Amino acid sequence: MQAHTDEIEQQIQQGEQELRRLELIDQGNRSLTILLKGEDPLDQPAISAEDHQFIQTFHEKLGELQMEECNNCHERWFDMNIGPTTGFCSQCRNQNRAKLFNSENFMDPGPSVQELAYQYGLKVPEPCTQIEAMCISPV
Ligand SMILES: [Zn+2]
Repeated sequence: MQAHTDEIEQQIQQGEQELRRLELIDQGNRSLTILLKGEDPLDQPAISAEDHQFIQTFHEKLGELQMEECNNCHERWFDMNIGPTTGFCSQCRNQNRAKLFNSENFMDPGPSVQELAYQYGLKVPEPCTQIEAMCISPV
């Protein structure tokens, strides 16, 4: 029994020496006054300052993206290569394809619900979320 107690006491002393070597325990104080270097890691931000800057840059670049709209088919998307003089997208600059995607062929859905509400002075509804759009989609 005494040998077992001595073994435990020896392990405690080795642990304290290791904590002193790592400068995590107060010199001369055997209680659990562990002095952590720097601030408490739980109070630190989850991301580094560098990563925070990356996220800021990402959001700035995302905010710079603009949707373009074709004057013929009224399709709206990014990087549609809209012609500066005609305002037509690359599809509609092709004469054969331009006839396919315009109001004469009933392919122009017209203004959105939000545009109609704004035009007639009504309360502008929020656009559907992706989940709402999926719920009412026939497919
Ligand atoms: Zn077009």
